[in-house]
Amino acid sequence: MIHDIVLFKGDGIGPEITDACIKIIEAAGVKVNWHEFLIGQLAYDKMGVLIPDDVAVAINKYKVALKGPVTTPIGEGFRSVNVELRLKFDLYANVRPAKTLIPGLSRYDDVDIIMIRENTEDLYIGLEEEFDGGAKATKLITEKATRNIIKFAFEYALKNNRKRVTCVHKSNILKKTDGLFLKIFNEMKENYPSIIGDDRIVDNMCMQLVKKPEEYDMLVAPNLYGDIVSDLMAGLVGGLGVAPGANMGKDIAIFEAVHGSAPKMVGQDRANPIALLLSATMMLDHIGENEASSKIKKAIVIALNNKETATPDMGGKGTASSMVAEIIKNL
Ligand code: NAD
Repeated sequence: MIHDIVLFKGDGIGPEITDACIKIIEAAGVKVNWHEFLIGQLAYDKMGVLIPDDVAVAINKYKVALKGPVTTPIGEGFRSVNVELRLKFDLYANVRPAKTLIPGLSRYDDVDIIMIRENTEDLYIGLEEEFDGGAKATKLITEKATRNIIKFAFEYALKNNRKRVTCVHKSNILKKTDGLFLKIFNEMKENYPSIIGDDRIVDNMCMQLVKKPEEYDMLVAPNLYGDIVSDLMAGLVGGLGVAPGANMGKDIAIFEAVHGSAPKMVGQDRANPIALLLSATMMLDHIGENEASSKIKKAIVIALNNKETATPDMGGKGTASSMVAEIIKNL
């Protein structure tokens, strides 16, 4: 079977790591028609738009995309294309697993946590306003989006044999917004008696994760805490080079790493492709290519143990190219 998949190589290190992933996916025997589009600054420079119209046509048709990181200007300029895509296709759930691949990549040897981050509202709606002497932002939490994400988290737990879902919030201070998120979580957990549902205030959550990450199973959080805490989780398993993600909607999914475009690493052959490759294995599972997915995951683990070929962020002496060659050799 040939799969039709939309491809955004992104910018910065994006093209390097997506090319590496395509090579590995094809070497694993998966046949793909890649439908490639430019987005972000590169699309703007060429076509005068950040997300060209034919992107929507392709995503609505093929339903699945693999995406490299896209730069967002800091402080000024356009809104995040990443956020735009999530809103445009109602990709309301951001799944970010953090799993120890091999011992020694971090101080922890047994981390296996999945963050389910609400992906469409909270402070990310971009409603900011300046006033004389300051600026303010609107934090939006709705019942509908909260119900959707909490249902997604518990259903994901059931499907993936997870035992506990912890709600992350700051409802001691944000009584109305985070208070609503927690209230709905506490209501809905009653529908899932086989799963433990508990909660942590976000600051305590960070401390708990650093002290005893092995105690946590799945987390569910509003957009901003989900974003921040999942970077912390990446640090528990070896860094952003091994942190994958998926943006899921009702029937559309875009798979991308947690990390960004790492502009300082561009063109040096040391950007680690594993985070995007693990996102691609989530994509392969999603489209029914489970065998290829598990073959790639096993090859990654063997390659990470070879310090001669692994990238420097994985404690190796190699380059991105040598690690990609090693993964392909081990397939
Ligand atoms: P970043 O994730 O690009 O980099 C943070 C740190 O992690 C840097 O030290 C970088 O060198 C390292 N790193 C990142 N990816 C790596 C990899 N594959 N291998 C090895 N090391 C890696 O975060 P940033 O510097 O804050 O952001 C850069 C740009 O990326 C910004 O414009 C930001 O908006 C954008 N961004 C995009 C996405 C996305 O497209 N989904 C996500 C996050 C950030």
